[in-house]
Amino acid sequence: MVQQTARIRFYAELNDFLPQAQRMRDQSCQFIAPAPVRHLIELCGVPHTEVELILVDGRSVDLEQRIDGGERISVYPCFERLDIAPLLRVRTEPLREIRFIADAHLGHLVRDLRMLGFDTLFNPQWDDAELARISAAEHRILLTRDRALLMRREITHGCYLRHQPHPVLLKSLIQRLDLCASIDPFCRCIRCNGHVSPADEEAVAQDLPPDRSGIQAPFYRCDDCRQVYWKGSHYRAMLSKIARLCPTTP
Ligand SMILES: [Zn+2]
Repeated sequence: MVQQTARIRFYAELNDFLPQAQRMRDQSCQFIAPAPVRHLIELCGVPHTEVELILVDGRSVDLEQRIDGGERISVYPCFERLDIAPLLRVRTEPLREIRFIADAHLGHLVRDLRMLGFDTLFNPQWDDAELARISAAEHRILLTRDRALLMRREITHGCYLRHQPHPVLLKSLIQRLDLCASIDPFCRCIRCNGHVSPADEEAVAQDLPPDRSGIQAPFYRCDDCRQVYWKGSHYRAMLSKIARLCPTTP
C-alpha cells in the first residue's frame, strides 16, 4: 500500500462533475495503490454510473481494473451517436427491461414516466440505503440529482440528473436513454404505478365527479389504487406532450 499517481482525463459532460480548473484537461490523481479504476474516478467526484467507457493506456477496461500508478486513464460518458461496440463498455449487460426508481425530489418526472408507460417506483419516505437496495435488487435505474447516492457500490444502473427545468429534464432523459422506442402511453397509473385496465361505465359511475361535462367512455381503472381515468382534456394535453417528446412515434 503506497501512495501513487495516475493521469486521468474526463470527456464531454463528465466534466460537469469537476471543479472548473480541472475540466477538459489531464489531471493528476493521487491514490493508495493498488486500487480499482472505479475508486480513482470517484475520487475525482464522478459517479461510476455515469461512465460508459474507460481506457487505461489506450486499452478498454472495466470498473474493477487494477491501477498501480503511472497509468494514463481516459473516461467517457454514454455516447449517443458514436458506435463504441468494438470496445468494452463498463457495463456489459444492458437492462433487458427499462424500469426506474426515483428519489424523493423527482415527483413530476415520476408522473411523466408513468404516463409514458415506464414502471417507476417512488416513495418520498425511502432513504438512500433503501433506494440503493431496491435499485440493485430489482434491476431498476436509479434516478437522482445526488451524486453521492450514485457512488454506492451496489448500484450498477443509475442516471445522474442535472438541475434543469422539468420539460428539459424529461426530454434529455428520454434522449439519453433512447426511451422513445419503449414508450407505451397510458397503460400505467400515474398515481401509484399500477396497471390500468378498461372498465365499464356502470362499474366506475360512483367514482366519477358529480359534474360529468367532458367526461365520457371509454373508462379505465387502476388495478391497484382503483383510480378512474378517461380521455378528457388532460388526456389530449398528454398526447401533445408525447408528440413533442417523441415526434417520430406513431
Ligand atoms: Zn393506481
